Amino acid sequence: MKFTDLGLAEPIVKALAAKNYEAPTPIQQQAIPPLLQGRDLCGIAQTGTGKTAAFALPSLDHFARNPKAAPKHSCRMLVLSPTRELAAQIGESFRAYGRFMKISIATIFGGVPINRQIRQLQDGVDILVATPGRLLDLIDQRAFHLAGVEIFVLDEADQMMDMGFIAPLKRIVKMLPKDRQNLFFSATMPKEIADLGGQFLHDPVQVSVAPQSTTAERVRQHATFVNQLEKQALLNETVRREPIDRALIFTRTKHGADRVVRFLAGAGIEAVAIHGNKSQAQRTTALQAFRHGHVKLLVATDIAARGIDVSGVSHVINFELPNVAEQYVHRIGRTARAGAEGVAISFVAPDERPYLKAIERLTRMKCEILPLPDNFEELVAKLPKAAAQQRGPRPNSSGGRGRNEAPRGDRSGGRGRGGRSQEAQSDQRHDRGQPGRAHRGEAGAGTGNDEALRDGQGRPFRRRRKSVGTHKNAVKPVRG
Ligand code: AMP
Repeated sequence: MKFTDLGLAEPIVKALAAKNYEAPTPIQQQAIPPLLQGRDLCGIAQTGTGKTAAFALPSLDHFARNPKAAPKHSCRMLVLSPTRELAAQIGESFRAYGRFMKISIATIFGGVPINRQIRQLQDGVDILVATPGRLLDLIDQRAFHLAGVEIFVLDEADQMMDMGFIAPLKRIVKMLPKDRQNLFFSATMPKEIADLGGQFLHDPVQVSVAPQSTTAERVRQHATFVNQLEKQALLNETVRREPIDRALIFTRTKHGADRVVRFLAGAGIEAVAIHGNKSQAQRTTALQAFRHGHVKLLVATDIAARGIDVSGVSHVINFELPNVAEQYVHRIGRTARAGAEGVAISFVAPDERPYLKAIERLTRMKCEILPLPDNFEELVAKLPKAAAQQRGPRPNSSGGRGRNEAPRGDRSGGRGRGGRSQEAQSDQRHDRGQPGRAHRGEAGAGTGNDEALRDGQGRPFRRRRKSVGTHKNAVKPVRG
């Protein structure tokens, strides 16, 4: 199928040609025809599938065929995005696809002064891409209203829910005019998300692409068992050894992300971080530096990284595993874009092993276990003093351990039953944006039962297993 087969208006086809898009992606093939007919749509698709164009192109087509002035203090199309980065990216996509049309597009999100946005919106815009909080601020200040909306898009609905945007979302939906087209996208569709969609979609066309496991299949997945407090030494070593073009390093918390950047800097390795505590300008600068290849390592929390489309990410490093298995699939989906192969390396502390199991169940794949480097003790000893203090006393350091075995003292010592260090717990409390489902899958964590942990076939993890590593150019084990 070609774009010309879809019957899109001429300026749109021209813009696609200018972008060198040859053919619609599967989500575009499925979604564009019914959307052109004005149908509502419920789509299961992740970023990277081309879903932005799937909703942008037919909407632009609608505007090309039904030109009229944008209503004052309102918009004709509203796209809600959970994060600023994704909102900015969607706005840019609309600009690119609509570049040969006379169309006004605004992107608004929090963290930047509101007054400029008020001025920007006073004459009305055709397309508004917004995060829910800032949109409601503008509405509450009577600077904006939703009476002009003809097309409403809710993007990344599952992320919206995770970020606690449900109440604001419902308020927004109530203000929309009755007669409108609704588009609803989510990377996952558990019942609660489907119910949310059901509340405002009318007889929607259902489309679904790239079941999550297909991303996983394209990524060579590795894991190394390592004491939480020694992960920094492993990271420093990993980024030195791996042939990295660009790597995204995931931490669970904002403070954790900053810490990782600091300690990498201490080891002479440049990295930047993006997370919710950074100013918008800082986030934009960091992302640009990463995108343009000035900095190879971007440390991010899940929420900040979600939806970011950077090509050429060769490695995803999970400094900490997410406690929701689906999140892991989103993370590793940042690499292996557009048919390329990617590498994911997860650092698994003893209390994270249940998460690894849940991930392997979801992806129906086994991570290849990479041993710790031979000289790991030395690398740990070389950590800067500040890191050593952060690490605190090494529990039961006299016991010695197998190269692939978690340190004994870490099995429960100093952690309590919850499984996470107090520091990590307080960190997580700091991170208001943490997913509401954060506790799913936590059962059994840190119960001191590591020795009993086995893979899906009941074999102990310690044994080297064959899985994604069957690829001929699998990542070399990190060795000293
Ligand atoms: P999205 O899932 O919307 O974030 O899109 C992922 C990436 O695919 C973006 O960089 C788009 O520019 C690109 N893209 C979208 N549709 C196509 C297409 N039909 N052909 C080639 N690239 C595309």
